[in-house]
Amino acid sequence: MSAADVLRYGVPRPFEAEAPSSWLARLALAQGCSMKELLRFLDIEGCLDVDHMMYGKALAELRRRCSLPPTAFAIAGTVMAGFAKARMPVWSLATTIAGVPASRYCPACLRGRSTAHLDIHWRFIDWRYCPVHNCLMESVCWQCKAPVCYPQDMALSKAGRAGYASQSRCLHCSANLAAAKPCFINPVTSSALTELEACWLLNGRALLASLCAGRARYRAQGVGTAALCRRAYEEWLPYPQQWSRVERRLRNDRSLEQVWRDAVRLRTREELKTPWGSAVSLERW
Ligand SMILES: [Zn+2]
Ligand SMILES: [Zn+2]
Repeated sequence: MSAADVLRYGVPRPFEAEAPSSWLARLALAQGCSMKELLRFLDIEGCLDVDHMMYGKALAELRRRCSLPPTAFAIAGTVMAGFAKARMPVWSLATTIAGVPASRYCPACLRGRSTAHLDIHWRFIDWRYCPVHNCLMESVCWQCKAPVCYPQDMALSKAGRAGYASQSRCLHCSANLAAAKPCFINPVTSSALTELEACWLLNGRALLASLCAGRARYRAQGVGTAALCRRAYEEWLPYPQQWSRVERRLRNDRSLEQVWRDAVRLRTREELKTPWGSAVSLERW
């Protein structure tokens, strides 16, 4: 690969809500090159968090270099532009203890994908549950407890060498991440949550929609992107340490392990209309 080249062949199409970090790993696999080589070719070697910076000019350049259509990463680009405009704290994006960018995952979502990939909103710590399957997002491999970090060489990983170069696998122990047992929780109906905790779950989801839409409506009042950050952690969302206590309690609650009873898909408008009326409501999502 030379710096002047543009990739025209062997470029996988990004999925609608896919994170650039996830797609770059799939691209390196398709190109048969190392991640280091690919990042150098794209001039993003040494970048601390590719998802964080991939909007605006940087995203346009990525599309150009990889012959992607202008619609590629439309959602990731819009969310991250909103993230920058709202001046959200970087700790809103999941990392390992050592500060390496990490992703959460929903085992049921992974199970349903013919090509495993990770969504941009799975990077956000406030995206705490999957609204499609009503379960908590998982942050580590269920078997070896390793975090899920991309972009990374899938082919050279333990999973890749065992013939499982896929994002549905833990790259450290090759366990199938889709086999993780989901912790079912429905913020609208579950009695295991207090009203405040249910609001935190719903608001986290609404925060992402707000970053994407550029505005939120909170208690019938419009909130622009610039004010999102201040409002988010002062009124709508818990700090990480507040939530970790709740999550520990929920994961130890045996009654949440059962069936897929709660895993019903709710329409967005209904879900955000909570009885206590304090979830952020949205113009569109
Ligand atoms: Zn899911
Ligand atoms: Zn593992």
